Amino acid sequence: MKEIKKHFPFYDNESDLIYFDSSATSLKIKEVIDAEIKYLNENGTNPHAVDYKKGFEALEIINQARSLTKEFINAKKAEEIIFTSGTTHSINLLANGLKKIINKDDEILVTELEHSANLLPWISLANSVGAKVKKIELNKDFTINIESLKNQLNKKTKLVTFASISNTVGAKNNIKLITKVIKEFNNNIIVHIDAAQSIGHMKSDVTDWNIDFMSWSAHKMYGPFGVGFLYGKYHLLNDLEPLFYGGGMSLKIEEDLVKYTLATLPEKLEGGTPNISAIAGVIESIKFINSIGLNEIENYEVNLKKYFNKKVKENNLENHITFYNLDVESSIILFNVKGVNPQDITNFLDHKYNILVRGGANCARRIEGVIKTKIAIRASFGINNDKAEIDKFIEALKNTNSFLDVLF
Ligand code: PMP
Repeated sequence: MKEIKKHFPFYDNESDLIYFDSSATSLKIKEVIDAEIKYLNENGTNPHAVDYKKGFEALEIINQARSLTKEFINAKKAEEIIFTSGTTHSINLLANGLKKIINKDDEILVTELEHSANLLPWISLANSVGAKVKKIELNKDFTINIESLKNQLNKKTKLVTFASISNTVGAKNNIKLITKVIKEFNNNIIVHIDAAQSIGHMKSDVTDWNIDFMSWSAHKMYGPFGVGFLYGKYHLLNDLEPLFYGGGMSLKIEEDLVKYTLATLPEKLEGGTPNISAIAGVIESIKFINSIGLNEIENYEVNLKKYFNKKVKENNLENHITFYNLDVESSIILFNVKGVNPQDITNFLDHKYNILVRGGANCARRIEGVIKTKIAIRASFGINNDKAEIDKFIEALKNTNSFLDVLF
């Protein structure tokens, strides 16, 4: 993977930076940036403006990105892919769209590990219609406890929503099995996956998983900011109430200013001008990931973590560092240096070692219900990382031992 770094302009001027924050956003590859700039330089028209060739070309970019995305997640139809601005937008679109389907006293099941983007829209929806959001029990390895989920399902359960991979402890859920259990109980229960953390790190197969909806962001797949995706099974997507009403999604508005006719999917849920330059970047990001292969990416990243774990043991780092998820096979490490505020450690790693990691709640506000701490440090890998960087990280972590002495 040494050659990989060349794809990332991030390293061009500061080759000694160690970026361990792919969970927050992955670095952007040159091909994506070039595609965005090319669109702005050479086209820049509105994809709704199909009256002229340039507008048609813009629409073609959207069509190509949509059909590549369909293949990428193995959806049945390109119309099942809705472009949004990101995972947050996608989940809000879904939660708002289900307002007529989720009623008083209905139950929505979530885990306490969820990112705020997969909690707040559901809490807000539940509060507005009088439904209830309930916690799913987790196993020791932070995955969903399927036996207790089975016991929790009942006739009020309308939706189960969880992350494919958690953005803090990296736990990877068995989506296919969990969905099977839910659908066997009641095929009408909606299953939604927050795939923000898995989309660039493991293969997605919405058809094999048999899930109903999935949300994710392009910026987590070496791609552009400002584009996200909502996948939905056609008939379920078609029943959603739009979140945005506007241009490009209506066919007719009656003279009585009461009735209107909406376009069909996908336009129906895509009111307004899309982020077309970023969508041009999506094409390159998918091509890049496909050129390596998601299984290879997953293996590579999991092996980096195994290597990290080995070094942790060799250097007895557990004496002064609490690691929360060493045994979880993923590309995320969550830890705290005993007795030191995480933000002091992140500053120390940045200023002294050029190592970029996150500290805090990492947008998972209920994590304390799972690992008994509100805040921790997260290091997360991508294919742009390598073992030499992990060696440097280990050296830096060794020096957090006498943290206060080092700093002052
Ligand atoms: N869910 C998860 C699991 C995430 O990791 C993130 C991004 N950190 C989001 C949702 C929100 O994504 P975005 O900010 O791109 O909307």
